[in-house]
Amino acid sequence: MYHAGQQEIDEVSKVILSKQWFRVGDEKTGHLREVERFEEEWSEMMKVPYSLLMSGGGTAALVCALAGAGIGPGDEVIVPAYTWLATATSVLTVGAIPVLANIDETMGLDPEDFEQKIGDHTKAVIPVHMSGRAANLDAIISVAKKHNLKIIEDSCQMDGGSYRGKRTGTLGDAGAFSLNYFKIISAGGEGGCLVTSDRNIFERAFVYHDSGAGFRPKASELSIPIFVAQQYRASEIMGALARVQMQRLDGIIADLRKNRNTLETFITGFKEVSVAPSNDAEGDCGVILALKFKNEAKARTFAQTSGVNGLVPIDHGKHVYTNWEPLREKRISHHPDMNPFFFKKNKGLRADYSSAVCSKTLDILRHTVYINIDPDWTEEHINKYGQILRSAAELI
Ligand SMILES: *Cc1c(COP(=O)(O)O)cnc(C)c1O
Repeated sequence: MYHAGQQEIDEVSKVILSKQWFRVGDEKTGHLREVERFEEEWSEMMKVPYSLLMSGGGTAALVCALAGAGIGPGDEVIVPAYTWLATATSVLTVGAIPVLANIDETMGLDPEDFEQKIGDHTKAVIPVHMSGRAANLDAIISVAKKHNLKIIEDSCQMDGGSYRGKRTGTLGDAGAFSLNYFKIISAGGEGGCLVTSDRNIFERAFVYHDSGAGFRPKASELSIPIFVAQQYRASEIMGALARVQMQRLDGIIADLRKNRNTLETFITGFKEVSVAPSNDAEGDCGVILALKFKNEAKARTFAQTSGVNGLVPIDHGKHVYTNWEPLREKRISHHPDMNPFFFKKNKGLRADYSSAVCSKTLDILRHTVYINIDPDWTEEHINKYGQILRSAAELI
């Protein structure tokens, strides 16, 4: 979350004073329909028929997308080895097994390794758009279609970004966005949103996300039997915040891109440092400037130069698969009988999370450096910072 102010206060105040905080209500009695209006507006922006705001974050949106796509025990889902661990754990939440594949130099899923990792039980893939940069969707989608796999886009770090003119999250069968505090916009510290163009995925996700789905007015429109799963409903307060934040989104991204582009001009013409390849530099969110180095030592020297403030993503904590201890130790769910690693149907599925399984990813993470971009930098600040980066690059 980069920006917040009086508008958020005003809109939340209206909801509070309406005393109608539940997402379902009657407009005639003063219900403001904030969640439904957010979903309508988000769908319009994304150019999809269905959106679903959730209180359970981007994680809930991923889980609902997988449940919506019918993924479950006996299925493998391919996920990149570099992502927030929720991408992998959401697969386990629906009872399936995540299989790790490498990233490429763009920091997204490597289409070639993805294809190599496809096995007899693979049912879906989750390309992740890390740090506001799209994965190689053209290639990933073509591989997925060839092998008849569902595509769930994890666009949690890419709210509002695009790939070849389309918003990320809308190119696969379903997409998940995060509106938690650390993302580009937020629904009040937590929140997530699922989008899909597939009516069946939407209906199943809708039922999965609301344990009281059968009591909602929408229930009569459903073509599937009601089942009971989780309770991820968003509140009207979240809806009001998400609506104001959404109005800020394209402006924030435009500022981030502009500042990233300016900063990038200071890093051209070097032998040992280059700007990371991007699958769509114009569509990405500009959250970071990613740089590539010949090796880890050079990356670290640059990142640690005074004033640079770089991050070598191998230090990115739980975004690196080697730090996913609960997976490595097969500690999933509260009860052993609900641990998908022990399900009969998952016997023989590939559940290898050892360090050696995606070593190419580790190598890429070691010779990359991220520079965080701020949408509110002044030109003067960018020029000063750019000079610091240029001087540090000259010393490599
Ligand atoms: C943040 C994030 C999520 C999960 O979002 P929450 O809102 O924290 O549940 C999933 N995937 C990626 C890549 C993320 O960065």
